[in-house]
Amino acid sequence: MERFDYGIIGGGPAGYTAAILFAKQGKSVILFEKDKLGGTCLNRGCIPTKSFLHSSDLYAQLKNPNSAGISAENISFDFSEVIKKKNNTVEKLRKGIELAVKNNGVKTVYAEAVIKDKNIISDGSKDFYAENIIIATGSKPREIKGLEFDSKFILSSDDILNLQKLPKTVLIVGSGAIGIEWTRILSNFDVEVSLVETAEHLIPLADIEVSKRIERIFKQKGIKYYTNNSINKISNKSVFLNTGEELNPEIILVAAGRIPNNINKECNMVLGDACGEIQLAHYAIQQAKETALGIKCNKSQIPSVIYGEPEIAWIGIREQEMDENCKKYILPISALGKAWCDDATDGFIKIITKDELIVGAHIISKEASSLIHILLPAIQNGIRVKEMKQLCFAHPTYAEGIGELLLNI
Ligand SMILES: Cc1cc2nc3c(=O)[nH]c(=O)nc-3n(C[C@H](O)[C@H](O)[C@H](O)COP(=O)(O)OP(=O)(O)OC[C@H]3O[C@@H](n4cnc5c(N)ncnc54)[C@H](O)[C@@H]3O)c2cc1C
Repeated sequence: MERFDYGIIGGGPAGYTAAILFAKQGKSVILFEKDKLGGTCLNRGCIPTKSFLHSSDLYAQLKNPNSAGISAENISFDFSEVIKKKNNTVEKLRKGIELAVKNNGVKTVYAEAVIKDKNIISDGSKDFYAENIIIATGSKPREIKGLEFDSKFILSSDDILNLQKLPKTVLIVGSGAIGIEWTRILSNFDVEVSLVETAEHLIPLADIEVSKRIERIFKQKGIKYYTNNSINKISNKSVFLNTGEELNPEIILVAAGRIPNNINKECNMVLGDACGEIQLAHYAIQQAKETALGIKCNKSQIPSVIYGEPEIAWIGIREQEMDENCKKYILPISALGKAWCDDATDGFIKIITKDELIVGAHIISKEASSLIHILLPAIQNGIRVKEMKQLCFAHPTYAEGIGELLLNI
């Protein structure tokens, strides 16, 4: 029987990162993947959606370029080309991962792995001995009772990636990262989107002021949303909400969270989405780094990004968790010259402090996904406000908004 120091099940961000890091330390590693390397993130999640986002943003900008002094006629899109671009991006990145895994000497087995015993993994035809077994088997879309996926009318986040033609109307169930991101993609592509959310406000995991501002932006844009609500019944493709509204979407996208695929509850090395903790690719990677390199990972300091329009990003304490020693400082994005040049003045930067430290940051803005990283060192490494104030930010940028806000503290 072939023997390995590490047997890793699942080739997503958690699994391939752990495999590469252990292999770099001279450990022998076998990695099992039943589908494609890159996992949900590369094949059905983070990357394909961002490729769609890019195409849809470009189309939306070209459709309405007047405010920038540009005119364009006969703007259209070919969805099959949008899909092709997405597939090329995913394949290119997958080749990179396959190469990195191979070049680091990891043995990859493409098969569904089963743990047969404490140290034995089977690929269905052959057994392998692993001194340590790591489960990194990811997660799958959560089904809601009465809204079971049929891949035709009721779609999961996997199904929607397989659409060959865009519908005219979509109802999205759930206003988390996936729901908000698809709202942006589909709205850009002229699809009429409605959202239904059981919580009191959109994006229930966000700072409450962020949720409320996003609701205001949705209202301005005419995107219909129903909070404190859910689907009561579906009859002949007519959807009835609990509050009585009748909607007639061509499809329903259910984006109501994900369920961990933990194939062995007794295994104590479980990484990434399979843990059922924070289901984000960078958390999966961070956990792999913690396991392989001993780099500590503070669960309460993991940044979140939502690719809405504008982008939303946050880390740390939210408004609803502030105590009497916390203070908040807010700068509207409209205070920034760059925002006016870009016609992107919606949003704010909010910093929450406690004593001399920054303990929370919440940003709605173009480039929020990058801006949040300026505040990560302050929160994750405990750099004091006094030291942050010494930073010189370039002008004109969105980042200088953080510099300006720091001066108010
Ligand atoms: C639509 C969508 C958009 C997303 N966007 C973002 C984003 O922008 N940013 C972000 O941080 N996160 C995003 N995520 C979440 C991100 O994709 C996951 O957090 C991340 O993929 C988790 O990594 P993982 O390695 O734990 O699991 P996965 O990536 O799910 O990988 C698990 C792998 O294990 C394999 N596997 C399972 N069981 C077995 C078995 N028995 N034998 C062999 N192989 C097996 C699977 O085939 C899969 O390839 C998104 C998710 C979705 C669905």
